[in-house]
Amino acid sequence: MNPVYYQAKFISSAPRLRDAPPDQGLEVAFAGRSNAGKSSAINALTRQSQLARISKTPGRTQMLNFFEIGTTQRLVDLPGYGFAKVPLAVKEKWQKMMEDYLHHRKTLCGLIAVMDARHPLMPFDQQLLLWTQARQLPLHIILTKADKLSYSAGLSTLIQVKQELSLIESPISVQLFSSLKKQGIEELHAVLDQWFQFSTISISP
Ligand code: GDP
Repeated sequence: MNPVYYQAKFISSAPRLRDAPPDQGLEVAFAGRSNAGKSSAINALTRQSQLARISKTPGRTQMLNFFEIGTTQRLVDLPGYGFAKVPLAVKEKWQKMMEDYLHHRKTLCGLIAVMDARHPLMPFDQQLLLWTQARQLPLHIILTKADKLSYSAGLSTLIQVKQELSLIESPISVQLFSSLKKQGIEELHAVLDQWFQFSTISISP
């Protein structure tokens, strides 16, 4: 287990990509429909109950929120999506920001897509898939709130989602996750460790 995640610190919020920290180092972004459990997942993985609350403060919900992990690694909390009733102008602004970030951010090395295990692969999630495929960006899907499904229902959802994605050529992985039950955190850490290039070398005797 890599303790670096527990020292995560808020860096800044950016209303546009040009306000983001310098495009150097390695970034992993988290995206998901509003209410899918993205903030809870970030808090669970960093063991900091306050961290993702920053992204939920008024004025910051539609921004890119940056968190420092290691010396050159960052987590980015992307604005939630899936608002049925917001004005078109807000949706267009969200779409432009996501596209700008996902297409142009050089340091972005992987995307964590947060989906409610009870409703995976909704239209906005499909849009996310298209964006990642466009640049062959590694994608890891966490199916959250797995505690709300029985063991067998969770397993069959996992298999079903994997099947639906099997024809996609860009690198994709999927796991079950529960912030409530602390399920799947080590699996998520392992994906992040790899993308962030944290050393996993073990010294043999
Ligand atoms: P966000 O809008 O995607 O950041 O979602 P939040 O993390 O704020 O979670 C939305 C709601 O789902 C909150 O009421 C959380 O308590 C709940 N929630 C989040 N993760 C879990 C989980 O793993 N299990 C359960 N049962 N509820 C969860």
